[in-house]
Amino acid sequence: MTESKPDTARALVLEEFNKPFVLREFPLPEPRDGEVLARVVAAGICGSDLHMQRGHDPRTPLPIIPGHEGVGEIVAIDDGATLHDGSPLEVGMPVVWERSLTCGKCYFCLRNERYLCVERKIYGINMSSADPPHLFGNYATHILLNKGTSIYKRDTSIDPAILVSATCSGTTAVHAHEYAEIKGGETVLVYGSGPVAAFQIALALDSGAKWVVVITRAPGRKADIALEFGADEVIFKSDMDSCKLMNYILYQTDKIGVDVVIDTTPDPNIFNEAVQVLRRGGTYVNPGLAVPADPIPVELYSAVVNKDLTIRGVWAGDASHLGKSIELVQSGNYPFDKLVTHRFKLEEHEEAWRVLTSKEGVKLVFEP
Ligand SMILES: [Zn+2]
Ligand SMILES: [Zn+2]
Repeated sequence: MTESKPDTARALVLEEFNKPFVLREFPLPEPRDGEVLARVVAAGICGSDLHMQRGHDPRTPLPIIPGHEGVGEIVAIDDGATLHDGSPLEVGMPVVWERSLTCGKCYFCLRNERYLCVERKIYGINMSSADPPHLFGNYATHILLNKGTSIYKRDTSIDPAILVSATCSGTTAVHAHEYAEIKGGETVLVYGSGPVAAFQIALALDSGAKWVVVITRAPGRKADIALEFGADEVIFKSDMDSCKLMNYILYQTDKIGVDVVIDTTPDPNIFNEAVQVLRRGGTYVNPGLAVPADPIPVELYSAVVNKDLTIRGVWAGDASHLGKSIELVQSGNYPFDKLVTHRFKLEEHEEAWRVLTSKEGVKLVFEP
């Protein structure tokens, strides 16, 4: 591994869709206008980064330094920059930063629905590296955080690689959990068994859910992790078609159906099965569909209206969701360490992409 000079940052750059990243060097910028320069200690590799690299995310400008999930420490601070709660930042402070920043002035920001901000900027997603100071993605040794980015101090007893999930999966999951409004004694069905699902299991259990069941494709590490997080049961798609599942859920819930379904998968076809197993008056929440997908037919009357269902889409999350997500990981109450299956240096990006594409890992992390 080549160590960069102290005044140089190294970063992976996506210059062309469907091509490997290019490792480039950039001058280290001096923070101005309330900016903060941070060293990236761990950067999460997200499923949505694969969609982006393939050109499936309509927001992607080229060239770009990908990576919206970052954990690290403060290198330099411009006057006026603070932690999320206004308390002072210090050089060397271990921190976690929010994946996005919002304008604070638009219709949505003023309603405190900042995840819908019309000018929402997301590191590594829609901020190009074309022009100086370039460093707006986490697949890098350093990132320049714009004024207004929420920065949280982190607990150094927690491995930074474990915390990266809090910045994306965890933030979205906390947001989804708010919409799910799970009450003590309720039953919850979670589709999928990746990092978002792990957070949903933990949050549902903390809300007093009495039966948390996970549906995933087949046995394997992710299914084991769901059980280690405390899911009561894992059902494999390979064993149960929709009809069998429906019968099983009705049998388990005194013919009522589950109170809440949370779909963390990117498969829109699950919707019709999910609303079928929901009880009348139940709630369906979708934090899983992050890129455009084909339309699906829906029996709106019988599947939704007549059942008086609540259907909630979930788009990203805000700084308050990030704060709760960090707290949950740092609580030590759930085995978030189990999620991190692979660690890579920036130079190993081609191998990282092979593992990401093969889906053999759970959470993959760059440690620049
Ligand atoms: Zn992500
Ligand atoms: Zn706004």
